[in-house]
Amino acid sequence: MPSIIAGNWKMNGSLAAAGGYADALKAAESRALLIICPPFPLLAPMAASFEGSGIALGAQDCHARVSGAHTGDVSAALIREAGATHVILGHSERRADHGESNAIVAAKVAAALGAGLIPIVCVGESEAERDAGEAEEVVKTQLRHSLPENFAGLIAYEPVWAIGTGRTPSAADITAMHAAIRDALTGQFPASGPATPILYGGSVKPENAAVLLALPQVGGALVGGASLKAADFLAIAASAPSV
Ligand code: PEP
Repeated sequence: MPSIIAGNWKMNGSLAAAGGYADALKAAESRALLIICPPFPLLAPMAASFEGSGIALGAQDCHARVSGAHTGDVSAALIREAGATHVILGHSERRADHGESNAIVAAKVAAALGAGLIPIVCVGESEAERDAGEAEEVVKTQLRHSLPENFAGLIAYEPVWAIGTGRTPSAADITAMHAAIRDALTGQFPASGPATPILYGGSVKPENAAVLLALPQVGGALVGGASLKAADFLAIAASAPSV
């Protein structure tokens, strides 16, 4: 399976810049599957730019309900209609800034699946949890409670302390965690768990991408800051191992 390189723009980007970014991605050859996750207002125009290119588009969140009185929220169906195929759910910034519990994440994942979106579900421990030797247990608990029974999609292992800090876990720690996630997924979902892509996220840059993407059970990367420049994002994608 080719590596999956997803870019999380967070609350960055503009209509003015999105076209040039899309053009740069379309002009490049990539053996990885590229997914760009811009803010909601950029989904429809970027879907139009990416049409026929094989580059996928994702949102950064969706609401758990199909529709209704939820001011400021966006439904999974509307995200799909805007042209996205994926949605990031359970990002640590949403878990922290919006109080999203595992149960809320699970409901959002179910809504995404119901609308035909592929969820990219984020899990990861805090620095205190890692220091206390609880990292694997924390992540396994998140997996157990953030994924509905009919889960199908991608997992992103994102240690909270590695996001936007320039720090990454050791290769041994990433390998151990991805193996633990694989075991947990296989136990929870015997049919799909063995093949569910597990992305690594947290300070992935052009300089470290080749090493990180070559680690066992690392099926790709979820990239924050380094996805904002097309050249950096493409350099990360170019570091993906050939299949
Ligand atoms: C992220 O927020 O998903 C992320 C991985 O950010 P960064 O690459 O900037 O650490």
